[in-house]
Amino acid sequence: MVRRVMHMDMDAFYASVEQVDNPHLKGKPVIIGASKRGMVSAASYEARKYGVHSAMPVFQARKLCPNGIFLPGRKERYREISRKIMAMLQNVSPLVEQVSIDEAFVDISGTGALHGPPGELGQKLKARIFKSTSLTCSIGIAPNKFLAKIASDMKKPDGLTIIEEEEVHSMLGQLPLSKIPGIGTKTTTFLERLGVKSPADILRHPPAFWTQKLGKAGSHLYRMAQGIDHSPVTPSPVIKSCSAEDTFPEDTQDMGLVKKWLFHQAETVARELRHKGLKGRTISLKVKFRDFKIVTRSLTLPDPTNCTQTIYEGACRLLERLHTSGKIRLVGVGLANFQKGPQQMNLYSNLHTLRSERLDSAMDKIREKYGDELIKKGLIMDLNP
Ligand SMILES: [Mg+2]
Repeated sequence: MVRRVMHMDMDAFYASVEQVDNPHLKGKPVIIGASKRGMVSAASYEARKYGVHSAMPVFQARKLCPNGIFLPGRKERYREISRKIMAMLQNVSPLVEQVSIDEAFVDISGTGALHGPPGELGQKLKARIFKSTSLTCSIGIAPNKFLAKIASDMKKPDGLTIIEEEEVHSMLGQLPLSKIPGIGTKTTTFLERLGVKSPADILRHPPAFWTQKLGKAGSHLYRMAQGIDHSPVTPSPVIKSCSAEDTFPEDTQDMGLVKKWLFHQAETVARELRHKGLKGRTISLKVKFRDFKIVTRSLTLPDPTNCTQTIYEGACRLLERLHTSGKIRLVGVGLANFQKGPQQMNLYSNLHTLRSERLDSAMDKIREKYGDELIKKGLIMDLNP
C-alpha cells in the first residue's frame, strides 16, 4: 500500500478566528498578543506584510506595524474551534496526530476507496472546514510526515499541495533550507558557512561527512535531504486524567479566595471533559504551600461526573479536610478514573445534580455563542486568572 500522509495547518489561525467573529477586522492587520512583555502568537496576512510574525516580541511588532490591531486573544474560543476541526479530521481517518491547536497529521493510506483520490479528499476536507468555521486551511499530502509538512506550507494560505513519490527529489532540490522543518537557525548558519543552500547540496557530501560534522543530527539531516522519514502518525494518547492548576499572584491564607480558584479550575476541567464526552469518579486536590511543600488528596464518588458544581464541592471538601494553616502558593483540581458515554443515574442522583448539569449545559451553550469572557460566573468575577 502506498503510504500517504496529510498535514493540515490552519491559516493564521487565531487572527483568522478574530476576523471571522468580528467582521470589521476583515482585511485589517490583526495581531494576537497585546501584553507589553509578551510575544505575538499570531498575525493576519495583512499584518505579515509589515514583517510581523508569530514568536516576535509585541513591542517590535508595534514598531513595524503601528496601525495594527493588537488583541489579547481568546484561547478558549480557539480551543473550541480546534476541537471541531480535529473532529472533522477524525472522520477522515482514525490515525490523527494533533501537533498543535491548529495543526495535525492524518495517515490517509488506504482511504482511497472511501474518500477518493488524495486531491479530491483534500478539496472536500477544506470545503467542509470552511463551511463549518468560515476559516481556511492549507493541506499538504505526501509519502511521509516530513514531506507533508513541507507541502502544506508551499501554497499558503488556502493551499492544497500534493507531492507524489516521483516528484520528491526535484522538489527537494529546489527547496531553500529555511523551508525545511526541523532545521534550526544554528544549523542553518552552520550549513550556509559550508556553502549548503538546499537539500541537493547536502547530498553532495557522503553521509559519513555529516555524521562527523553533526553526529546523530548529521545522519538525520542526510535522510531529510533525501526526503526519507519513517516516523509514524501517532494518534494522541488516550487521556487518563484532566487537571488545572494555578500559582497565585501572591501566597494566601484566605480560604474564600482559594475556593474561588478551585471553582475556576473545576470549571476548566469539567468543561474540557464535557467536550470530550467523558466523566470521572476520582476528584483530586493539589496544594503547594509557601515552602514549596506539596500535598495531594483525592476522593472517589459513587457515580462518575463532569459537573462543575460536583467537582468544585469535592475539591472544597478535600481542602477543608486538610486543616491547613500555612500560606498557600498554588492549588489545582483534577479528575480521573474516566468512563465514557452516558451513565445510568442511580437512585441517589438527586435533583441537585440534575439542576447543576442543566446549568452546565446552558453555560456551555452561551459560551459557544458569545465567547468566554461574557459570562464568568459571579463567584469568580474578580479573579481574572
Ligand atoms: Mg497554522
